[in-house]
Amino acid sequence: MDSTEFRKRGMEMVEYICTYLETLNERRVTPSVEPGYLRHLLPSEAPQEPEDWDQIMSDVEDKIMPGVTHWQHPRFHAYFPAGNSFPSILGDMLGDGIGCIGFSWAASPACTELETIVLDWLGKAIGLPDHFLALKEGSTGGGVIQTSASECVLVTMLAARAQALKRLKAQHPFVEEGHLLCKLMAYCSKEAHSCVEKAAMICFVKLRILEPDEHASLRGQTIYEAMEEDELQGLVPFFVSTTLGTTGSCAFDNLPEIGKQLQRFPGVWLHVDAAYAGNSFICPELKPLLKGIEYADSFNTNPNKWLLTNFDCSTLWVRDRIRLTSALVVDPLYLKHGYSDAAIDYRHWGVPLSRRFRSLKLWFVLRSYGISGLQHYIRHHIKLAKRFEELVLKDKRFEICNQVKLGLVCFRLKGSDKLNEKLLSIINESGKLHMVPASVNDRYIIRFCAVAQNATAEDIDYAWDIIVDFANELLEKEQHDELSEIINRKKQDTLAQKRSFFVRMVSDPKIYNPAINKAGTPKLSMELPSPVVSRGNAPIIRTQSSVDHNSWISWPLAFLFNSGNNEDKGNNVSLRFRHLDTNVRHSSSRRNSGAGSSPSPENEQELVNVQQEQKSPRKSPMVMRKASSARDNPN
Ligand code: PLP
Repeated sequence: MDSTEFRKRGMEMVEYICTYLETLNERRVTPSVEPGYLRHLLPSEAPQEPEDWDQIMSDVEDKIMPGVTHWQHPRFHAYFPAGNSFPSILGDMLGDGIGCIGFSWAASPACTELETIVLDWLGKAIGLPDHFLALKEGSTGGGVIQTSASECVLVTMLAARAQALKRLKAQHPFVEEGHLLCKLMAYCSKEAHSCVEKAAMICFVKLRILEPDEHASLRGQTIYEAMEEDELQGLVPFFVSTTLGTTGSCAFDNLPEIGKQLQRFPGVWLHVDAAYAGNSFICPELKPLLKGIEYADSFNTNPNKWLLTNFDCSTLWVRDRIRLTSALVVDPLYLKHGYSDAAIDYRHWGVPLSRRFRSLKLWFVLRSYGISGLQHYIRHHIKLAKRFEELVLKDKRFEICNQVKLGLVCFRLKGSDKLNEKLLSIINESGKLHMVPASVNDRYIIRFCAVAQNATAEDIDYAWDIIVDFANELLEKEQHDELSEIINRKKQDTLAQKRSFFVRMVSDPKIYNPAINKAGTPKLSMELPSPVVSRGNAPIIRTQSSVDHNSWISWPLAFLFNSGNNEDKGNNVSLRFRHLDTNVRHSSSRRNSGAGSSPSPENEQELVNVQQEQKSPRKSPMVMRKASSARDNPN
């Protein structure tokens, strides 16, 4: 394709995109295809010879589009919004056209400098403290664009880990880093995004997953008690990830309380994940939701969720950029340049070396809409969510399950989880509306999020009508099924009774000698097995702490310590996966061997302690040493 044809095809593509977005509501919101559908439509080899562009585009419509879930559809209410707008699309297009890879200032100075400036703009608009802004006089912090919120959480955890290890190493210079590492403990709420758990897996650290309060908010006292308990057991708290706007129900951890409590644990890194909600803080009336940010070491939000910016654009700010980069710096000669000391090199701020010119699209968005336009967009979505909430509240068969502060409404039919699962399933199967579930306070709820940029009140009313129609149909069917079930059960019971009476007539003396009946029958014991979750060094361990909240310890890489041969079937380890809510038996042979572990006397001691601790019901069944000496000697 030469530039003459690119001009022509480019215009056609813009036309195609506009028509696609303008006529989206004529399509099913979700595709009705089965896994592997595309394999049957496309050849198994790439074409040897060039193909005609028209043919390629016709395949887009005929083969690709039938398998697309339309996230910009006015009936798409799942997850959180996928940011999208024309200025952003144009920004990405220009970035792709320029095609630079801005890993260092020298690799493309504008790419780096625009990122720094735009992140300062957005940070100020959100209301972040000055120490997060790179260009503020005396500031040591700054902002960077990452690919995703998961990456923001990962790099901050990596930075916190490096800092904690450095501190521990200074205190215990002759102890190997590996031994220090196994003492580190990170913390988050049960409502935190699963990316925190994934980050802990990658960082090879333990993560304690704490129970939030009845509003799905993690409280300061909970975190304080957990950390204090862990310290007494010789562990080293080093990282806390809080959430403002949880994925499940858009709940807010109590940041002021947590921040205050963390003052008692100097050196612990406090991260704030506000992937969705953080964007809304550009509205002055929503800034109170950011209260407590002065305690934070880092903060992330995704403009690619709720600020009309296309994926990928996840913005991260840190209080101290040296603490971040010192965990990630590698400096081969071929990447050095003459301004290394004077300029920002974003390759030290994240995992990948190569970086796209992502700040262009955010710059285009901020300039085209202005902060006022973006505030209008956020407020519009909140208004739509409030409208939906009102509709739900008017129907007494439904209930609201979250505090609707932003654009997410969690609701359910009053009734069983199964009923709500069925409702969501038939709605989604219809392709008329798309929502996803979540578990809030251990109940199955349906999430309805205001998503489409230009959604109207009519769209919300229409969505509610669809929900009500399906709910009516389901409840009617349920009533009918229940009735048929009662009748069937009655029929079966009567038949069974008749049969049993006949059998007993001929075999059981009680049936014709009532005196025997008076002696009574012993009651059946219905004792349930106690919910023991932890066995051995389980990756996620339910703790029975002296604190009255429950928590889980995610120790995802513990399986490495059990990966020897499988001959000894008696030494099974029970693993508990938080998100599956199930126990899986993991067979292992040697108690303390296999890849990743050093079979040292210390490790032997640890395992013995684990087993001993489990016998004590009041303490957390986690690896620990003698509590009194643990602080002085983390080995
Ligand atoms: N954190 C929160 C609070 C989220 O809601 C999400 C996704 O919805 C994530 C993290 C993960 O985001 P990403 O896909 O950018 O990694």
